[in-house]
Amino acid sequence: MVKLKQLLLIPGPTPTPTQVRLAGAEEMINHRSADFKKIYEETIENLRWAYQTKNDIFILPSSGTGGMEAAVANCISPGDKVLVLVTGAFGQRFAGIAKAYNANVETIEFDAGKAVDIQKLKERLDSDKNKEIKAVLFQQNETSTAVINPVQKIAELVQAHGALIIVDAVSGMLATDMKTDQWGLDVVVSGSQKAFMMAPGIALVSVSAKAYSVIEKNKNSRFYFDLLKYREFSKKGETPWTPPISLIYSLHKSLQILKQEGLESIFRRHQLLKKAVRSAAQSLGFDLLVKDEAVASNSVSAIVPMNGIDAEQLRKTCREHYGVILAGGQGALTGKIFRIGHLGYVDQLDILAAFSAIEMTLYRLGHKKFSLGTSVKAIQEILLEASLVKA
Ligand SMILES: *Cc1c(COP(=O)(O)O)cnc(C)c1O
Repeated sequence: MVKLKQLLLIPGPTPTPTQVRLAGAEEMINHRSADFKKIYEETIENLRWAYQTKNDIFILPSSGTGGMEAAVANCISPGDKVLVLVTGAFGQRFAGIAKAYNANVETIEFDAGKAVDIQKLKERLDSDKNKEIKAVLFQQNETSTAVINPVQKIAELVQAHGALIIVDAVSGMLATDMKTDQWGLDVVVSGSQKAFMMAPGIALVSVSAKAYSVIEKNKNSRFYFDLLKYREFSKKGETPWTPPISLIYSLHKSLQILKQEGLESIFRRHQLLKKAVRSAAQSLGFDLLVKDEAVASNSVSAIVPMNGIDAEQLRKTCREHYGVILAGGQGALTGKIFRIGHLGYVDQLDILAAFSAIEMTLYRLGHKKFSLGTSVKAIQEILLEASLVKA
């Protein structure tokens, strides 16, 4: 029997264009050569475009978490007080990494589905009269709860306070506007397997001048992820250790494709899919974890099943019968929600296909309180409306 075609709709790894995968199949070259330098420097230049920055950006051979670890290991000295704004599992991860590097970690936690509350942050920063907080860490897009944080507003407050701003933009970069320089973000981490629409294995880290001044005095141990070594080698168009050459070929290609599309169009495309997914979910009677549309993620949506429907059973049926791969909940949300990734190389028909499978899944599971085609229609209406506005 032919294997079911797979529709991968998780918030990373995401689907990848064939051209991007094929680029990774190019033959190996010497990583200390003019050929490598050319590809490397073009890639960095295009990354600066994606990040909207003039800062240095480094390509680390790791998944996104390695980039988060590099940010912490380089910017935080043992005993430093850091404030982590926790909007979900990835915020917890940031706190965990900072603890592992012996930071004095304080967290402010926000309810699942809510973004960082600016007022709470302001109160905490205002009360820090002796400027003990050295860095504020948070997610641009919290993937586990499908929330987007008000990065610009957070950055304004933290800048006024003086602490370093360290942002995990792994799942948000290229799905949502991210003005690294204009907003004054010191360290911004992202990763290859999300909106960069390529395989996992690369983390990206940008570093501001202010961050360098901290990194140069940093007392924490690090070797492989020492960003000062990265800076030294990048001046010659190289990386300190053997880089993931195949992945850099892919990144080089994906950035060319993305740049041709343009940032505004990329953001609009993600926003449209978010709108379509949220409307489709509601049309079937699902709840959304993120009620406030303004802070709902462009990258992923978190959906709460109606009474009587188990999120894990729904995912299993969708996968086994239709080849549609949905993500589950993380941590305390396991079994309570399912998530649809709509970032990177996901298009309009993918979302239509996913919801027609979800409708059939609901019928199979005995939930028939809607007419077949309801969510498909809701999506079609949103897509049509958007295309008519554009035309
Ligand atoms: C995917 C992701 C990461 C990185 O996870 P890895 O599995 O290490 O790639 C970090 N932060 C957020 C918000 C993410 O979505």
